[in-house]
Amino acid sequence: MRTRRVLHSPSVEPEPFDPAAFPGLEERRRADGGAASARWLEVIASGRPVMADGAMGTMLFANGLMFGDPPEVWNLSKPDVVRGIHRGYLDAGSQILMTNTFGGNRMRLSLHGLQERVAELNQTAAILLRSEVDAAGRGSLVAGDIGPSGAILAPTGTLDYDEAVDIFAEQAAALVAGGVDLIWIETMSDLLEVKAAIEGVRRVSPGIALIVTMTFDTRGHTMMGVSPEQAVASLTAWGADAVGGNCGNGPDELIEVVRRMRAADPDVILVAKSNAGMPELVDMRAVYRADPETMAAAALAMREAGASIVGGCCGTTPAHLEAMTSLVRH
Ligand SMILES: [Zn+2]
Repeated sequence: MRTRRVLHSPSVEPEPFDPAAFPGLEERRRADGGAASARWLEVIASGRPVMADGAMGTMLFANGLMFGDPPEVWNLSKPDVVRGIHRGYLDAGSQILMTNTFGGNRMRLSLHGLQERVAELNQTAAILLRSEVDAAGRGSLVAGDIGPSGAILAPTGTLDYDEAVDIFAEQAAALVAGGVDLIWIETMSDLLEVKAAIEGVRRVSPGIALIVTMTFDTRGHTMMGVSPEQAVASLTAWGADAVGGNCGNGPDELIEVVRRMRAADPDVILVAKSNAGMPELVDMRAVYRADPETMAAAALAMREAGASIVGGCCGTTPAHLEAMTSLVRH
C-alpha cells in the first residue's frame, strides 16, 4: 500500500544529463537494427487506441494472496493463478500486458529475504506472460513491469542514485532475458528515481521501448511534488516512448492529468491506467468500487483527453477491461 505523505523535493530539471546514458527516440529505434522496438512500433502504428491490461495486485489478493506477502513469489509457487489473470486480460482485449514483477527489485525483495532471486522471479514472470500472449496469438505485447525501489533517493532519503541505477538494471536485465517486448516503469513519485530506473534499463538494453507512468495522487501532483507538465518534459527528454499516469485516486483526477500533459506536449504518446475509483479503507484494506461501466466511460474520457494507451490499475478486473475495450475500440 502506498503511504500518503507529501514530501517537497526540489524540482528536478530534465537538463543537464548525459545524452549517452539517455539516447533519444530516433537513435534508440536504430539500435539492434531496429529489432528491439519493432513490435512496439507495430502496435502503436495503427493509430487506433491501444488497450493495456488491468490490475495484478488486487487480482492476486482476490485469489488468496495475503497482505504483506510478496506477489512475485506466486510466479513460481502459483503460476497457474498468474497465467489465469493474464489470460483474463488477453480475452478482454488487452494489447499490452504487464509481468507480475511490480516489487521485483532486490531492495523490496530483501524485505522477504529474497534479494538473491531477482533474476529467477523476473525471468519466470516474463516467460509466464509470454506463453499466454503467444497462446492467444493476437500479437499483444509483453511489458516488463518495474515499480519503485521501495526507498527514497538521497538527498531526501538514503538510497544513492548509483545504487538505484544498479538495482533497476538488475531487474531490467532479468526481464529482458525473459523476452519482454518493452519495459514499463510505473507508480513513480520521484523524478530522480525515474531517471535512475531509465538509466538502469538503458544500461542493459539501449533499444527496448519504454513506457513510464507516475502516480498523481496529491492535489494534481505526485507525492513528491512533480506536476504533470514537469513529468512530460523530463520523461520525454530521457527518451520514454510513452508517458502518463497510473494508480491514484480514480479516473476523474487522472483525466485532468492527461489533459495537462496533452496541453504541455502535443506529440507525446500518453498513457492512462486509473484505479477503479477512489480507494476506501475497509478492514485495513483498500477497496475500489467503480464498476465496469463507470471505468468504460472513464476510458472514453481518457481517450478524448489525449491518451492513446488506456488500461486500469488497482481494483480493475478483466470485466472492467472488457467493458473499456468494447467502448474505446468501438
Ligand atoms: Zn494502482
